Parts: sequence; C-alpha cells; structure tokens
Amino acid sequence: MSIQIPRGTQDILPGEVEKWQYVEEVAKSLCHNYQYKEIRTPIFEASELFTRGVGDTTDIVQKEMYMFEDQGGRSLALRPEGTASVVRSFVGNKMFGYPNQPTKLFYSGPMFRYERPQAGRYRQFVQFGVEALGSEDPAIDAEVISLAMGIYKELGLTQLKLVINSLGDADSRNAHREALINHFKPSIDEFCGDCQNRLEKNPLRILDCKKDRDHELMGTAPSILDYLNDESKNYFEKVQTHLSDMDVEFVVDPTLVRGLDYYNHTAFEIMSEAEGFGAITTLCGGGRYNGLVQMIGGPETPGIGFAFSIERLLSALEAEGIELPIEHGVECFIVSLGKEAKDYSVKLLHTLRAAGISSEKDYLDRKVKGQFKAADRYDAKYVAVIGDNELQENKINLKNMSTGEQEEISLDHFVEKMKNKLGK
Ligand code: AMP
Repeated sequence: MSIQIPRGTQDILPGEVEKWQYVEEVAKSLCHNYQYKEIRTPIFEASELFTRGVGDTTDIVQKEMYMFEDQGGRSLALRPEGTASVVRSFVGNKMFGYPNQPTKLFYSGPMFRYERPQAGRYRQFVQFGVEALGSEDPAIDAEVISLAMGIYKELGLTQLKLVINSLGDADSRNAHREALINHFKPSIDEFCGDCQNRLEKNPLRILDCKKDRDHELMGTAPSILDYLNDESKNYFEKVQTHLSDMDVEFVVDPTLVRGLDYYNHTAFEIMSEAEGFGAITTLCGGGRYNGLVQMIGGPETPGIGFAFSIERLLSALEAEGIELPIEHGVECFIVSLGKEAKDYSVKLLHTLRAAGISSEKDYLDRKVKGQFKAADRYDAKYVAVIGDNELQENKINLKNMSTGEQEEISLDHFVEKMKNKLGK
C-alpha cells in the first residue's frame, strides 16, 4: 500500500516552487528596504512557550497544537506561529541590549496547527512575518502595516481591504472587558461551551466565535472604541494619520479582535476582495503586543508585528489573475552528435555552468531530433550543436531559439560570446 501525504499538508513541486521563491524574495527585499533583519528559530519549542505566549484560552493552544514528549520527557510543540519564538529569542539573546533599537526582525518558515483542512487552511503552512520590538511610537505601527501592504502591492495585488482597530491599553481593555461580561452574562447559556468558558477568562474572544457569530447579542456588544481612554484614543488617531500620510487606505472596524491573548492597541487584518478567492478571506493579521516580552521573562518591551501565509498570498494572486514574472527556461542546451562530441559536451557543460550560465544536455542517448525536442521542453534560449566534425574544426553551431538565427562560433570564444549574448 502506498503511503499517503498527511492531511492538510502539500508537496510543493518544481514548476510551483518558483512562485514561492519569487514571493519570498519580494518580501525579503522589501524587508531589507524597511531594515528588518532575518531571524531563524527552531521549528519546535517548549510547549510552555506557546501556552504562555499565545495564551491558554486560544484555540491554537487548546485544540490545535502538535505536542509531543521527547526521549528526555520534555513537552515540546511544533510551532503554531512565529511571534512567541521570536520573542523567546529576543529575551534569551538579550537583543534589547543591542545598540540598534527598535529590534526589527522578519522570519519565514513552516507553522503547524491541527485545524480542519479546507481551501486556504492547512495543517502545515508557511508564514512570513515581521516583529518590531522596543518602540511604542505609532509610526512603527504604521510602518509595520505599510510594509505588509507594500509586499502585496509590489506583487501586483489590488483587490485588498485593510481593516484596523484599537484594543486600547490595559485600562481601556479592562473597562471594555467588564462591559462585555455584563453584556453577555445574562444570556451566556445561549452560547457555545467555548464562549461560556471565555466569559470570565477572555470575553473579547467571544466576538471572535465562529459558531455564535449570528447571535443577536454579537451585533449589539459594546464597542472597544467607546472604552478607549484618552491616551489610547490619541495613539490610535496618530496611527491613522500616519497611514493616511503614507496613502495607505484603511477602514476602521471596531469588531476586529485578534485570536491571540497578548494583543493591545493596534490590531489589523488584510483581506482579499477578489472574486473567487474563497470563504476564508484573511490574508494577513497583525497587531501590537506590549505585554508579551514580559510574559516570556524579558524586560517590559513594547512590540508589534504581522504574519501572513504564502499559501493564501498565492491564492490571492491566482484569484486576481496575476502572473509572476518567473523565468523557467535554461539559457543553453547542448546538442551533440558522435562519440567524441558527446564526451566533449560534458566538459563544455561544466565550463558554461562555471561561467554562470544555466545549461543542460541530454543524458538519455537521444538522437539529434530527440535532443532538440528536449531543448524545447527545457525552453532553451540557445541551442549549441556540436558534432565530431565541428569538434575537429574547433567550432560550434549556435541557434537562437526565439529568432531562429544560427551562427558558427570558434570553440575558443564560445563561453565568452555566450556571456555577452546573455548580458553576463
Ligand atoms: P494568525 O497567526 O492566526 O493570526 O494568522 C496569520 C495569517 O497566517 C493568516 O492571516 C493567514 O494568512 C495565515 N494562516 C493562519 N492559519 C493558516 C492555515 N491553517 N493555513 C494557511 N494559512 C494560515
């Protein structure tokens, strides 16, 4: 019996993987412009990092973590998200002491959640994310949001909706929390078990419930914006002013809450509005988490970040019909005739490659016609034909596959000429 790929995972095959490389490259290069540096953290961590850092009332921790015990009896978890690991590393490596502050980092890698697989929802998916730690300037919030939007725009997406909200500071959140408890408590029996548990622990998350989304009390729930104190209100207004100054369009949605416990002040999501994108429209989520660094054992340090998955980004590109400018073809394919020429082609191929030219040859003893067909399949820009006779005369025949032009070139100058033609 053949072994099946695990549910909710996928192989990314040649032909498709180039798209991944392309979008990751665009995201990385924009991060460079914004001065975010790459960090790579382990794929598994102590389970406690996520119960503390993501929050033990969240679905991610309660229902979706891949946890296991290692041979030494430690409880470990495959990381379900990136922020907690970045903060763990920030604290462990005392990055708060680095001269350049705020600390601006980005990461890219697989995350794991035991969710019900469906379009746009995988059990292993790749998140690209950034974190800015050490500044509580609303300009950093605006920068982080504009970076996420910038990556999408750079890739050509236009049908986007940026939604922002403020969850306020601790005082504002507490006042709102009380109001939410009073609002839901009298009718909490009508809500699902999860919501009942959340009522006292984290009532904000009731607003995030998928099961009870249509309950009439959801629409009339007290809005956080009515509970923001002056400081939080000013902070939120400043973020909006910066975004407007940068021509980043947004809408304010007071019902936007993030699933994770450690958010405060700015929260945002970017949605695709492209037709046919599918039921799950969120491309990217992020927000401010001023309490997290302390919760993970570091000094009081404000932070903000976002994460998006490459899977959903690629679906959005497809839904908008955007073709990425990916070069598939090989630059030079060598066709050989005769025994000596065949041996010589091995050496020539090596020289071309060493000169930075992507090249290929036949390895299946095909006839000349078959070799030309192979060159077509490789989408070769040039085909270099060499036979035993040419070899004796120290020359090679080069065909430009887009114009059909052919020329004879001395073997001594072949690599140099190829480099010129390819602008290398
Ligand atoms: P979260 O960490 O839940 O705030 O998610 C941030 C982003 O990660 C989402 O907006 C999606 O782009 C992506 N994402 C989250 N869960 C999944 C999943 N199961 N499959 C694919 N992408 C996901």
